[in-house]
Amino acid sequence: MPEIERLGEPAGRDGRGRFLKKAAQKFLLCEYPRITEQETGCVLRLARAVLPATGGAAMTAFRCVPIATEIADRFRRTGLDDNGNAIKSVEASGAAGRFPCRHCLRCAASGQTMLLGSYNLPWPRGIYWTPSPIFLHAEACARFASENEVAPIVRLNALVSVRAYDAADQCLYELGHVCSGADVDAPLERALGDARTAFVNIHTARPGCLLSRVERIDG
Ligand SMILES: [Zn+2]
Repeated sequence: MPEIERLGEPAGRDGRGRFLKKAAQKFLLCEYPRITEQETGCVLRLARAVLPATGGAAMTAFRCVPIATEIADRFRRTGLDDNGNAIKSVEASGAAGRFPCRHCLRCAASGQTMLLGSYNLPWPRGIYWTPSPIFLHAEACARFASENEVAPIVRLNALVSVRAYDAADQCLYELGHVCSGADVDAPLERALGDARTAFVNIHTARPGCLLSRVERIDG
C-alpha cells in the first residue's frame, strides 16, 4: 500500500512495512501484549490516514501548536525573554535534535544561530503552570502549520514526556507517558482520545522543557 511508505515507517529503519506486518502477525495470534509501541505507532499513523477515506472511524485529528509569531518576534527584537532575562545566542552543533525551535518546530541545522530564553506557557494556568527554557531560530522562520503531523522536534527527541490536562488546567496523571519521540503516536492518541483531555503538552523528559502544545481539531 502506498500509505505505508508515505506515512507508516521511516526509510532506513523500516521502509517496507515491517512493523505493520509484525503487529498484524501478533494480532492474528492474539499476542496483544507483545505488540510494541513502535508497531502500535505505525498502525495508528496508517489508520489515521486510511480510515477516514474508507468511511471508517477516524482517529483523533490534532495539530501541534507552536509559540505565537508575535512572541518569537519579540524575543528576536528586544533581546529579552518573558522573565526579563537577556536572551542567549548560541551556535547549533552536535547531534540532530539538540536545538529545537519552538516556532517552526524544526531542529536547527549545524551552524545556525539559535536564541535561548525563558518562555511563560499560556497553558496550563494555575497550580501546574510553569515557565520553560526554549530555543528559537535567530532568523525569522515559518510557523509550523501542519495537521495530524507530530512536530519534527518531538519526533527527533530521544525521550519526551506527554502531559495531558483537563479544561480546568488539572494534570491527568494516568494519561502521562514517557517514551522516545519516535514512539509518541500511541500515548498521544490515548491522551487526545480521552474525553477529559482539553490539551496536551509534550516536554523533553530529561530537562523538562516544553516542545509543543498539542490540541484536537474538532470536526
Ligand atoms: Zn524556527
